[in-house]
Amino acid sequence: MSSYFDYNASTPVDERVLEKMIHVYRYEYGNADSRTHLYGENARRAVETAREETAELLGISKEEVFFTSGATESNNMVLLGLQPYGEESGKKHIITTAVEHKSVLEAAAELERRGFEATYLKPDEKGRISLSQVQEALREDTLLVSIAHANNETGVIQPVEEIGEELKKRGVLFHMDVTQTCGKLVEELRRCTYDFLSFSAHKLYGPQGIGALAMRKTDYQYPPLKPILFGGGQERGMRPGTVPAALAAGLGEACRICAEEWRHYRDEEIRIRTEILKALESSGLRYEINGDQENTMKNTLNISFSGVNSEALMIAARSCCGISNGSACTSKDYSESYVLKAMGIPPERIRSAVRLSWGRGTDSIEDFRELLNIVKQFQI
Ligand code: PMP
Repeated sequence: MSSYFDYNASTPVDERVLEKMIHVYRYEYGNADSRTHLYGENARRAVETAREETAELLGISKEEVFFTSGATESNNMVLLGLQPYGEESGKKHIITTAVEHKSVLEAAAELERRGFEATYLKPDEKGRISLSQVQEALREDTLLVSIAHANNETGVIQPVEEIGEELKKRGVLFHMDVTQTCGKLVEELRRCTYDFLSFSAHKLYGPQGIGALAMRKTDYQYPPLKPILFGGGQERGMRPGTVPAALAAGLGEACRICAEEWRHYRDEEIRIRTEILKALESSGLRYEINGDQENTMKNTLNISFSGVNSEALMIAARSCCGISNGSACTSKDYSESYVLKAMGIPPERIRSAVRLSWGRGTDSIEDFRELLNIVKQFQI
């Protein structure tokens, strides 16, 4: 078996999460919205416990958490669900960045087709956006700023704390996609000021197919978001459809574990990072690391091995390491990473870039050393 180095695409499910889900599937089945029998009540209890655990991890209140199918849906809900308010208020301008996940970029493009204007901030060569760029882009009619806390390809962390405070002062709505940071940058996230926050459970050792949208209340009021789906009124009408109780319980358990144990896992991620960097340095290979290493997720490295085509490398390395280039969501057909391109990285260096990401369960870098041996053969 090869080692899995693609945690930013999806993480393995924690055993405790799996146990919890099996328990709900086995004993707490029922529809959480059935009010007429105990089966519904039990499922409802599982869902509401999960909501509390999710809120606890984020440091917000339970009624601010809405379950969705994942970050893609949450991101779409925010951008498209603000359309009616934007039209009523005459605020039809949004700001985002050129390095967002496609679920934000494509939703922004859809808003543009519906008559809105979007500004896409370009990061510097290290992948960072600055507060002053956001300030300069703000207009009288700016409705929303949407920025991911950390980028999935490079791990670069954006200055969302200061951006959030500035936007609060200016009265502009702020959405953070925290898919890569939720459960990892726990304290930072609790300090942030925002209106909306999106993430998926499967990046924090929970199941695929569920995530959340957090909507912060201001003066007891939710932000002016309208639902994009219509149906049975679940999730206070924001996201109709039967809440998958077992998946929600899995997400809740994943959040509970992160809230209690994140320091330990962060230290482990740092230990693996240090070993990887040491192995790289002593390898004698020619390489460059992409992204701001001062502001980066500790579990991610985006490396360009000079002269080595990343597609060829991934095929050659298949039996030792599961790595990737670009985001899994755009990698069905290979096209150059738009994230690295927006950072102004030369095409040759982009074509040789691979992303490694690790986490719980990565205990050795032996297979990474094997990867370096493969790179060596390419570079001879
Ligand atoms: N945002 C970011 C930053 C991501 O990394 C991802 C997943 N790669 C998503 C959104 C979308 O998540 P999902 O596919 O689970 O909806």
